[in-house]
Amino acid sequence: MGRFKRPKNKDAVRLPVDKEKWGVNDNTYSSAPDYYYDEEYNCRDCGKAQVWSAEQQKHWYEELGKTINSSAVRCQICHAHIQAIKEQQQRHMKEMKNKPKHPNEGFFKNI
Ligand SMILES: [Zn+2]
Repeated sequence: MGRFKRPKNKDAVRLPVDKEKWGVNDNTYSSAPDYYYDEEYNCRDCGKAQVWSAEQQKHWYEELGKTINSSAVRCQICHAHIQAIKEQQQRHMKEMKNKPKHPNEGFFKNI
């Protein structure tokens, strides 16, 4: 978590960590933190300063069961952008699979 820094504002939200749920999918001997705090980070793609809220972290690690080594790297806009590209690629792959062969394929081969 070294690249994160805590917002200096005193009203920064903190949420208690549910240690029963934290890191369940990790083989880790490191102990769970007591609290999640809002964390500041810069988007990997556009470099924009972002806040990863304590609430989002709790959801990420406890509800989604993500590995404790993972964390937010992109802002929502860049994240949505990446998702859109992935979906487009998947759609393209499907289309290629379902595409009928070129009707003149036999013709070309038999010249
Ligand atoms: Zn971004």
